[in-house]
Amino acid sequence: MRKTTDEEPGYQDKYPSFEACVRFHGHTCPGLATGYRVATTAMRTLGVKRPYDEELVCIAETDACGVDAIQMVTGCTAGKGNLAIRDYGKHAFTFISRDSGRGIRILVRRADSPDRAAMMDNLRKRVFSGKATAGEPAEYRSLMEGAAARILAAPEKDILDIREVRLETPKMASIFTTITCASCGEPVADARTSMVDGLRVCIPCSEMLSGKGGRPGHEH
Ligand SMILES: [Zn+2]
Ligand SMILES: [Zn+2]
Repeated sequence: MRKTTDEEPGYQDKYPSFEACVRFHGHTCPGLATGYRVATTAMRTLGVKRPYDEELVCIAETDACGVDAIQMVTGCTAGKGNLAIRDYGKHAFTFISRDSGRGIRILVRRADSPDRAAMMDNLRKRVFSGKATAGEPAEYRSLMEGAAARILAAPEKDILDIREVRLETPKMASIFTTITCASCGEPVADARTSMVDGLRVCIPCSEMLSGKGGRPGHEH
């Protein structure tokens, strides 16, 4: 039996739909639409099917809405350990195929005008503070849906900047490797540790040892 390839018709139908992402996420928004485009682009570019086997790994440089679409479509999930969130506040997502060793970083271009973003922001604040006038919640929803629809329909090159990246294995390994904290002895993700006085320790221990976090029992 021949293996299914990306080029075969119907391949796109194998991705979970945007509507499925909306159900998972709870609302329609431009961030989710962006994440959906990033996810499907990454899958197609790297030629991977939904990686139930954790073939694909994602490093997200944001923890915003789009991450939910990434999880739904690519199968890179917070719980499975093949999604790392490094919140630098950037709409950028790196994907690595463990099988091929190929990596890409997808940077989201700023699509909407600053004016439109400011207007959405103001409206959002009024809607969520309960100060909106009768028609404003619906107006807000329709603006969000319009922005999402524009992103879903936009030519890829207008919204996404895709670059091949080379990631050294140690860096990758450190993100997904568990070590033992030299101070408390608890298992901890290597990527969340740091060196204090020559010891590799977890974040709470590093704060305690450097005096930043304050010791338990010592109120200041
Ligand atoms: Zn959202
Ligand atoms: Zn520790």
